[in-house]
Amino acid sequence: MATPSARLAARRFFEMSVAPGRLNRTYSTSHSFAKVLRLPKRQLMKLVYPLQELEVYLDPDSRADLHLRIFDPSLEEIARAENVFAAAPKNRIEYLSSAVHLSHAPGSSRPEVCFIGRSNVGKSSLIKALFSLAPEVEIRISKTPGHTKKMNFFKVGKYFVLVDMPGYGYRAPEDFVDMVETYLKERRNLKRTFLLVDSVVGITEKDKIAIEMCEEFALPYVMVLTKIDKSSKGHLLKQILQIQKFVNTKTQGCFPQLFPVSALTYSGIDLLKCFIVNITANLNGSNFR
Ligand code: GDP
Repeated sequence: MATPSARLAARRFFEMSVAPGRLNRTYSTSHSFAKVLRLPKRQLMKLVYPLQELEVYLDPDSRADLHLRIFDPSLEEIARAENVFAAAPKNRIEYLSSAVHLSHAPGSSRPEVCFIGRSNVGKSSLIKALFSLAPEVEIRISKTPGHTKKMNFFKVGKYFVLVDMPGYGYRAPEDFVDMVETYLKERRNLKRTFLLVDSVVGITEKDKIAIEMCEEFALPYVMVLTKIDKSSKGHLLKQILQIQKFVNTKTQGCFPQLFPVSALTYSGIDLLKCFIVNITANLNGSNFR
């Protein structure tokens, strides 16, 4: 069971405000790493390793704080990992089911990763980008206030299950808190929680409550910074350094390296795919637990 303070944090965290909007969305954009590999070197590096690309603009003191290469796969490793995310007859990528409570979740024989973040952080867009080579995967997202929020489970071949958690804001129904809290606390096969933070906005109070909960539940989690295409280089650097400082000084369970991404330009998406594959499939013996 969660401690009382963790429960409180969970409740505050999942008091949600959901922007009115679309009920269903179908994602179909395609992005392949083979195309990325044909780009001129500078463009390629910027797209694949967006965090490292910023290194040259940092003074040496700041560089020491920024964890740039804890996870530093080669282009070949990234290309190999992409196969896991590419739908094929022998690698089915599909929607499994939705659940409002852990007891309704699908079987837990495969490793799982979950994506969590406040409403509008860019979670659906990121999942769409991750599944760009599985265009038949339809992600149903209810953003209408009053609609029941569900956890959506997607099977990625024989490798792992990706869970799209409901976005958080304010005014959460009780069962919503119980659903997410129970899932995070009790799902044994949950290998990593990906906590999305809007790189334009930085870490908000609501994000801090989510972080507090991951810390209290002793979950290993990763901070993914969304929408990096929206900021100037200067603003992005400032935000990244602030977030990195927060991770370095205020967290225990957070993976030290940040993952900046853009669902629009696909910047950082291939690296993130490779990280997920490493966590779940333990390719090449490397395992970032
Ligand atoms: P969710 O509520 O977290 O699922 O967020 P969405 O994926 O629906 O995105 C919220 C808004 O941000 C939408 O208008 C998206 O088009 C926009 N958005 C999401 N990701 C990006 C990104 O990487 N770059 C830019 N420029 N906009 C984005």
